[in-house]
Amino acid sequence: METRERAELLKLLTELVASPSVNPPGDELGAARVLQAHLRSAGLAAEVREFEPGRANLVARIGEPGRGRRLALCSHLDVVPAGDGWGGDPFRLSRAGDRLEGRGVCDAKGQLAAMARALVRLAARPRLGGEVVLVAVGGEEAGATGAKALVEEGFTADAVVVGEPTGMRVCTAHKGRAEVTVRVTGTGGHAAAVRDLDPPVARLPEVLLRLERLAAELAAAPHPVVGPPTLAVTRVSARAANTATVPQEATLVLDRRLVPGETHERVDAEIRRALDGLAGVEVRTRAGAHPAEQDPGHPLVRAARAATGSDASGGIGFPATCDQYVFARTGAACVVLGAGDLRENRAHAAGEHVSLEALAEASAAYERLALTYLAGLAGLAGPPPAETPRGGTPSSATPWTAPAPAGTAPDTAQETQRTWT
Ligand SMILES: [Zn+2]
Repeated sequence: METRERAELLKLLTELVASPSVNPPGDELGAARVLQAHLRSAGLAAEVREFEPGRANLVARIGEPGRGRRLALCSHLDVVPAGDGWGGDPFRLSRAGDRLEGRGVCDAKGQLAAMARALVRLAARPRLGGEVVLVAVGGEEAGATGAKALVEEGFTADAVVVGEPTGMRVCTAHKGRAEVTVRVTGTGGHAAAVRDLDPPVARLPEVLLRLERLAAELAAAPHPVVGPPTLAVTRVSARAANTATVPQEATLVLDRRLVPGETHERVDAEIRRALDGLAGVEVRTRAGAHPAEQDPGHPLVRAARAATGSDASGGIGFPATCDQYVFARTGAACVVLGAGDLRENRAHAAGEHVSLEALAEASAAYERLALTYLAGLAGLAGPPPAETPRGGTPSSATPWTAPAPAGTAPDTAQETQRTWT
């Protein structure tokens, strides 16, 4: 990639890192404005919308609306807190040769900058044969709130590429998550009179044993792409007002990772079954991310593999959860793809870094992917879908309307539905 492009990418990423957008609380609005200003200076319109005060998503569209396919390039504006252990200011990008360091350079502002530059280059082409939409969401690091708000507002696409550090491997699936609280109640009281009590802590070994058995059963049934579902005890607590009192309640928190095909309801029922018959046990399941899985034979996956030079044929799992499931649930084809590695590049840790070269390559790959997917080159894709709602079936209830041509007032129905298209 030419030097000027690399300089633009670096400039945008430096500005994005300097606008912290730490989640919690989120504060993505500043970073969204930075991205909007960058796109504007390249002649592209971008809409920033707050989904909560100070929390923002950005959408920028190019190409021919209503023609061919719509591809979204999506990554997130928010970052996890910096934490301790940085050599310098984590919100001031530092560069040593090819190595860029700062909070978010890899997860995921670097991916976002690479996608934004790909959009700018694609916009300079005379004809794309479809639409490319840059989607910068907030809230990815906690509950996918930005992506969910976007989808609730009616955003759809035929295909979505989610920018996360995958080492440029085309990831087709990720696990979901549930957080399960097991509350064990009994009778607490004076520790010197323990014979009259029913301490819940005494029942914990049986509870833990049954959960361990369940975890072993899960480990024996791996999913072909993302591996086995897991169950881990992540918190054990039982506490009375002082250490001479037996607590009347003990609580376990479980982290349960779901594989594609599993549901939160099933996870809840399975844990209740495992603990069935034990007195004073209550189970509460909080649904987190859903698992997601993309058919590896889909034209999007083939276009992504062609663009990255991958020779993989089966599915590849992304080790963390991300926004893939939110878009997949709208019916869009969806892959996860980006530069760097979650662990090696210290995402979510002090010293998060990424290679500028790798980001530039990712940017070029996003551009190739878009061209290939929209054009359906070399038999990679069939003809574009007919006049059906984007990303859904013809009977899909998801509201979607084409943008009104300039100078015409949308009718009322369109007005109420006109959202992120
Ligand atoms: Zn991320």
